[in-house]
Amino acid sequence: MKNTYGIKTSMANIKDYIPIVGESTIEDLQLIAEKLKGKVIQNVNSTALGGGVAEILNRMVPLLRELGVDTRWDQIKGDEAFFEVTKKFHNALHGRRQDISRHDFNIFLDTSSRNINNMDIYGDIVFIHDPQPIALVKKRKKNKWLWRCHIDVSSPNKHVWRFLMDFIAKYDSAVFSSPNFSRRLPIKQFLIAPSIDPLSDKNKELSEETIASVLAKYNVPRDKPIVTQISRFDPLKDPIGVIEAYKLVKKYIDCILVLAGGTASDDPEGARVLEEVRKRAADDKDIHVLLLPQSDIDVNALQRASTVIVQKSLREGFGLTVAEALWKAKPVVASHTGGIPLQIKHKYSGLLCHSIEGAAFAIKQLLNSPEYAKKLGLNGKEHIKNNFLLTRHLREYMLLFLSTYHKEDVVYL
Ligand code: UDP
Repeated sequence: MKNTYGIKTSMANIKDYIPIVGESTIEDLQLIAEKLKGKVIQNVNSTALGGGVAEILNRMVPLLRELGVDTRWDQIKGDEAFFEVTKKFHNALHGRRQDISRHDFNIFLDTSSRNINNMDIYGDIVFIHDPQPIALVKKRKKNKWLWRCHIDVSSPNKHVWRFLMDFIAKYDSAVFSSPNFSRRLPIKQFLIAPSIDPLSDKNKELSEETIASVLAKYNVPRDKPIVTQISRFDPLKDPIGVIEAYKLVKKYIDCILVLAGGTASDDPEGARVLEEVRKRAADDKDIHVLLLPQSDIDVNALQRASTVIVQKSLREGFGLTVAEALWKAKPVVASHTGGIPLQIKHKYSGLLCHSIEGAAFAIKQLLNSPEYAKKLGLNGKEHIKNNFLLTRHLREYMLLFLSTYHKEDVVYL
């Protein structure tokens, strides 16, 4: 298949990963996959496009299928009111102050009941992603149920967490991204970090010509250093904080800020935040606020054209954008929150920050010291290669699926 840039879009085969991770890693995956023959894995989440969960499933599902594991992916249905509520849950679980009324909980339960009645649950293993579809576990029969939590629930709103616990307790196991996120639960827990696909359109090498054509399409000039944050327009990604940090840097270094993001069908906050960002950026022609279509090549090219990548989240699950930037050997400035410290060791594979001023200081340091920036980027790439590629993730998910058929309480991945 060709995309609008006339370049082949990737659907890499499992063997294509051998030059990156080695033959034995792929053989290992094939051996484990054999043991899952005959089992149907049914993933359920709330959106096919936008955000990290969809990003991972889009690559995970076809590769598991190629390995011979019958893996499917369905989405629940919900209207705007439902996704308003689940976004409130998301924010509250991340520890943000959020008013949630009895009416909100009822909206959640009503939509969940409709999905429980209407959705076909056929998996031997039902793999539920995040809180939106969590209530489907009421359909539990003799099959296995796993709840995959992508959110940093280290200090959740107690009200929401207690509400969800009634559902979580009905699962066989829960999966979290980082040791810090695990909670006291009456069920087994697994810690599995997310990953990126090095061969997807989002992360594969691009020609200079493609990068240039994407930048031209968005009218982003390349005559100054480019500082970029790519994220959904979400208050927790703190795009306004990024603008403030950029303004501090701009007093000393002439640079461009790119704030690029798309929308996700399960995130109703996007339009409001985008408008606020546009207002804040209006007085500076060097700030480029880009509303992206769903285009992995565009994201890839913007990341590759950047001098420094920022991820100034106030809360974060894992932060795939950080892994994507590091894989491209980019120097990254990112907040010390959620799963970001798993990816960035401060002053080794990037710079961590705790405030707007801290972010500005770090961006300035990287723009002023290209050699140092380059070293951090290269270390970052190595770190992602060793820890956060899709092949490691595939292996751990398959072992997780197998473990649901074992009686032992402790499973080492
Ligand atoms: N993303 C994208 N287009 C956008 C904004 C984000 O493709 O306009 C991608 C981004 O490259 C990453 C994912 O969406 O792969 C976001 O994952 P992350 O873990 O960073 O944040 P989330 O949105 O899940 O909170």
